[in-house]
Amino acid sequence: MLDRPLTAEEMAQETAPFLRFEDVSVTYGAGTAHPTLALSPTDLAFARGDFVCIVGPSGCGKTTLMQTLAGFLKPTAGTVRVEGRPVTGPGPDRGVVFQHAALFPWKTVAANAAFGPTMRGLPRAERRERAEYWLRSVGLWDFRNRYPYQLSGGMQQRLAIARALANEPGILLMDEPFGALDALTREKMQEELHAVWKRTGMTVLFITHSVDEAVYLGTEVVVMSPRPGRVLERIPAPFARVAGERDIRRIKAGADFVALRERVLGLIWGEGS
Ligand code: ADP
Repeated sequence: MLDRPLTAEEMAQETAPFLRFEDVSVTYGAGTAHPTLALSPTDLAFARGDFVCIVGPSGCGKTTLMQTLAGFLKPTAGTVRVEGRPVTGPGPDRGVVFQHAALFPWKTVAANAAFGPTMRGLPRAERRERAEYWLRSVGLWDFRNRYPYQLSGGMQQRLAIARALANEPGILLMDEPFGALDALTREKMQEELHAVWKRTGMTVLFITHSVDEAVYLGTEVVVMSPRPGRVLERIPAPFARVAGERDIRRIKAGADFVALRERVLGLIWGEGS
């Protein structure tokens, strides 16, 4: 207990939502002859443990929005907050996974997985332990002494996810992480990610072109539209929180699922893009 009243700033942090985009907007080339309003003022808040899927056609500002939370990009206006604190740069509390696994080709699978903990100077035993735990979680422990080029595309992407998770980030940011995978591998990866999310309770922001994927994985689906990039609607989705064993084929064929998918598609098409 503090022996003084909380300051206004501390009070704001106590009551703040876990994640907040507070009137965030981004203009590329501001002050030049050709500025691009990539993201119109956006106000969104999410709770810890949400799985937020962002969908919309190319150029609607999905990556821009995510990069402000990753700390790679400073908004032109507004503030991104995590637990009330402004984001001022990248940090180990936010793991990032891109569409193409950006692995270190000269490092083994195990060394790739241990990269974050190594950079942070964690003791050797802890680095190993974390790398092993996450490599086992994504089914790559048996491949720990291989190099990335010796893995399939799906395995490389699993390694990129393990590497991000080895930092045990409270927030995982994923920009089209399964976009380059074949349909079967993609469904498997969806299941694996879903299981990790359930087990860890982490908060996920996930960009995808696939409405099907968004409705299946997300607790929230944020639909965006281009010219200028903006949020059209935010829709809660129930399927990620279905208790017990999930049957992916059955859920996706169900009437509720199809109706929600059509609603999201209607929003995107209705915009004429
Ligand atoms: P999405 O991820 O939905 O495809 P982006 O966030 O990548 O959309 O881009 C939104 C808009 O901003 C697009 O019009 C894109 O061309 C523009 N844009 C993205 N990055 C830059 C940049 N570095 N410089 C100038 N314009 C950019």
